[in-house]
Amino acid sequence: MLELKEVSMHYPTGNVALGDVSIEIDRGEFVFLIGASGAGKSTLIKLLTKELSPTSGQLWFEDKNVTKLHKRRIPLYRRSLGIVFQDYRLLERETVAENVAFAMRIVGKKNREIRKTLPLVLNLVGLSGKEKIFPDQLSGGEQQRVSIARAIANNPKLLICDEPTGNLDPATSWELMDLLSKLHNHGTTIIMATHSKDIVNAMQKRVIELRDGKLVRDQEQGGYI
Ligand code: ADP
Repeated sequence: MLELKEVSMHYPTGNVALGDVSIEIDRGEFVFLIGASGAGKSTLIKLLTKELSPTSGQLWFEDKNVTKLHKRRIPLYRRSLGIVFQDYRLLERETVAENVAFAMRIVGKKNREIRKTLPLVLNLVGLSGKEKIFPDQLSGGEQQRVSIARAIANNPKLLICDEPTGNLDPATSWELMDLLSKLHNHGTTIIMATHSKDIVNAMQKRVIELRDGKLVRDQEQGGYI
């Protein structure tokens, strides 16, 4: 589904954020992306979302060479991705329902379809009944659920989670992992960057570890070590 072929990323400052990284991820996988701060995780995620282009190497998504994607086609490519950030990035002046509906509207979904899908998505993330609430009236865990609802509303092929539990307490983090496991069991492919040793050790999923921009470990059912 996703393949990085000898991808390198040198920032104009001279920083080598990634050097010759090759990774293949199949549909339906759950992959943890780990590594110390500065290892290159955010850079890798920005390459996936096409915020950045690699200085060398290629990124393939399904049968498309994303590296060569025309600017005009980037928005369409991004629709195959759902992205969840550590800091939720919700529209603070909009309700839970509006936050999720907005994501559907910008890809051209009709109101009728939004009205039909919204309750299903909110139910899936455990937020039924909170439709009319504003983000600042929700707990951190609930806000992250809204951001997951928004990310999955358009049925993305790949869900990218960048430190999704970074602002959550341990109990809430586990609840969130239960939700991600549920989505994974429903068939969603997930890449999750994290610093949480406990989570990686407990989940026993594939672990991709970066160190100083190099891929140093790619292990099935790995732990944090
Ligand atoms: P991580 O997400 O694992 O903390 P990053 O991808 O943010 O790692 O950073 C990898 C390396 O690239 C680090 O050395 C960092 O200083 C450098 N880097 C990140 N972003 C930039 C940038 N915009 N300009 C220059 N160097 C950067």
